[in-house]
Amino acid sequence: MSNDAQPSFSLELSPDLRETRDWVHDFAERVIRPAAQEWDEREETPWPVLEEAAKIGLYSLDFFAQQWFEPSGLGTAVAFEELFWGDAGIGLSLAGSGLAAVAVSGSGTPEQVGEWLPQMFGEPGEVRLGAFCSSEPDAGSDVSAIRTRAVYQQASDEWVLTGTKTWVTNGGIADVHVVVASVDPALGSRGQASFIVPPGTRGLSQGQKFRKHGIPGRRQGPAGRQAGQDRRGPQRRRAGGHEDVRGVPAERSGDGGRGRPRRPGVRA
Ligand SMILES: Cc1cc2nc3c(=O)[nH]c(=O)nc-3n(C[C@H](O)[C@H](O)[C@H](O)COP(=O)(O)OP(=O)(O)OC[C@H]3O[C@@H](n4cnc5c(N)ncnc54)[C@H](O)[C@@H]3O)c2cc1C
Repeated sequence: MSNDAQPSFSLELSPDLRETRDWVHDFAERVIRPAAQEWDEREETPWPVLEEAAKIGLYSLDFFAQQWFEPSGLGTAVAFEELFWGDAGIGLSLAGSGLAAVAVSGSGTPEQVGEWLPQMFGEPGEVRLGAFCSSEPDAGSDVSAIRTRAVYQQASDEWVLTGTKTWVTNGGIADVHVVVASVDPALGSRGQASFIVPPGTRGLSQGQKFRKHGIPGRRQGPAGRQAGQDRRGPQRRRAGGHEDVRGVPAERSGDGGRGRPRRPGVRA
């Protein structure tokens, strides 16, 4: 292969990305850093900071989508580096909804993406949150150990989720929870699917609030709530629809068959 045929790779930031970096840095310096200590001590979600970020479009579905699809692939990394430079905990509060959004955009139908992603961010004056619920007390890195079960009840056209999640950023306070559950335990992680759980779902409850885990302070509060047992919801809320789980390796159902693992490509 000649040198001309080698794929090129560069970490050089485009002018647009440099502008984004400076814009996020400015917000981190002016708004996040001065607020960090207070919210660290309060151990609560920093709603006023989220609101300020929403006002300028930084906490918004548009901004996250732009960075996610930024052509060089560096958009999210550059923006998050600046947010977390401001403060790791507040950065996580600003980034947490993105995990749930990526999970639904990776596995969901276009209709589900259009319906639920805006509800994970809200708008200025009415900020909302999303939560991605994969980890369990006995299932962290090893997602094949997930025990939360999803059972489809044909008579009522409902999925019933039963299980306990832990370490979930925004868990229990989010407007939309995206829950990874096992539809067919015999298939291990290939038998899992993601479910969209809206607010007010019967059976959804919060558990323990964790105080600290590597990143100091309050932001582990929302991260640490156990979310949910015995949630019910219509089958349309299974990301990707019902039919693509039955008899099909779950890794195919999540990405249109391109062969990546079924678990949404996000970690906290
Ligand atoms: C601040 C914070 C926010 C979080 N937010 C979320 C969230 O929003 N949603 C969610 O679902 N989860 C969330 N988590 C949980 C997080 O995803 C898990 O902590 C993570 O998956 C690791 O799982 P674990 O803690 O059980 O560690 P384990 O999986 O038990 O791993 C412990 C150690 O063993 C290593 N290890 C594990 N398996 C192997 C292996 N096969 N070979 C070699 N080494 C291995 C790991 O690298 C690690 O060092 C959050 C965690 C934190 C701290």
